[in-house]
Amino acid sequence: MKRIASSLKKITASAVLICSTAMHASSSYADMDWFEKFKNTASDKDLYTFLYAMPKGGDLHNHISGAARSEWWYDLALDQSKNGYHYFTKTTINNCVPYGSNEFAGSPYLLLFKTVTERTYTTMSECEQSEYKRLEDLNSEEKAAFLNAIRLNGKGEGRDEFFQTHWQRLYELTDNPYLMLEILVKNMQAFGAEGLIYMEPMMGSLGYQLADGTEVSDEDFVAMIKARLKQPDAKATGVTVRLQESILRFVPSAEQQLIRDYKFVSAHSDLYLAVNMVGREDNDKGHPMRFLQTLRELRRTYTNVKLSIHAGEVDEPNSHIRDTLLLGADRIGHGINLITDDELMREMRHGPYMVEINLISNLLLEYVDEYSQHPFPEYLRIGIPVALSTDDRGMWDSNMTDEFFVAVKEFNLSWEEIKTLSLNSLKYSFVDDKTKASLIKTYEERIKHFEDTAASGKLKKANVTPVSYQFLCNYYSVCLVQE
Ligand SMILES: [Zn+2]
Repeated sequence: MKRIASSLKKITASAVLICSTAMHASSSYADMDWFEKFKNTASDKDLYTFLYAMPKGGDLHNHISGAARSEWWYDLALDQSKNGYHYFTKTTINNCVPYGSNEFAGSPYLLLFKTVTERTYTTMSECEQSEYKRLEDLNSEEKAAFLNAIRLNGKGEGRDEFFQTHWQRLYELTDNPYLMLEILVKNMQAFGAEGLIYMEPMMGSLGYQLADGTEVSDEDFVAMIKARLKQPDAKATGVTVRLQESILRFVPSAEQQLIRDYKFVSAHSDLYLAVNMVGREDNDKGHPMRFLQTLRELRRTYTNVKLSIHAGEVDEPNSHIRDTLLLGADRIGHGINLITDDELMREMRHGPYMVEINLISNLLLEYVDEYSQHPFPEYLRIGIPVALSTDDRGMWDSNMTDEFFVAVKEFNLSWEEIKTLSLNSLKYSFVDDKTKASLIKTYEERIKHFEDTAASGKLKKANVTPVSYQFLCNYYSVCLVQE
């Protein structure tokens, strides 16, 4: 941090100028020079510390069930005994069911570390029960395996493990409304600590159960969310939260879910703002044009439901992004194959649609083999609006600072670009205009203060302790405190 302080000390006046003019005019090279000098001289650890301490905007692309670190799942699941939930996870396979079980369905038998509630456990045969252990009874080897089974931390663990085993292993953990709300608050705390002020995660309102199996209605869940967000620990994060519903696009009932979600979001527009469509795009059953007619019918009735849709998260060129814009989406999740459509690239320059960029997700799910293949810098630098987001940060074992770190290291971001990315993550949020204006004002005040503080050499005194996880350590050999 010493180098940060000394290199920044020289540029007090220009740093203030950069901040005040960031969105209005391009800063001259001289104005940006301090950050260029800093990048060129800082160690990776110093750069990461700087980026961790740096105020940021929002995270617009975040699946709450993918946003919990393995350790959070484990600790929070045990803590749920206070709400009557006790969990068992599968540590052995004893061939308790006949050969020929369906291993491609939602609950495959031959899958270790599938986690169930005590209620489900008690319905199992004695043989099947012998395959499970209470979460708190796992030995150190089993616990490490449980934790690793729900994150992508090894070579060769890519797209198929992620899509076909992670949620299947979490299984009944994601049905616990209290647990999911704790994950939301953990994210607010972690994001707040790294300078975010807004998040708009995908968090469904259906499918929750109390420990005794009673179904929690969507109305009851909304009340639970609002109550949890009013608790002092959630408020103390300073992070504003709005939510998106999401539908799994390739299932037979996707249209019915879309209709239900529109009605639900419209009726709860103080909390839920948008509908998203998720699920692997290489499953053709969920192609965008399938939903055109349904959405046109829904738009005859509803005025206040926004759309952000995953599109272009595929290896091959196709028309998914173009089709998705016809569906009415204002934001595109991932947009990797936009780069293959010259005409659409031209049309998307300078908005109004934004691409939610997920650099770490795209690498770990093998949509790019290395960052030199990623189209992000091309979008950014020809004026297609982009913002960085974390997607399933728990399963990558990463955070938002990691996304900025990757972007700076791989694509040499300028200080002005960094601020544009944060501002875009607020400008293109779906929150109401008044709240948005307030968030942008907060960000601009904070980033100005950060520049002033850094420039006057006081950043070191702020005693910033950056938190990072396995991704950064594994991929960039920056191994810091892990929480
Ligand atoms: Zn996603």
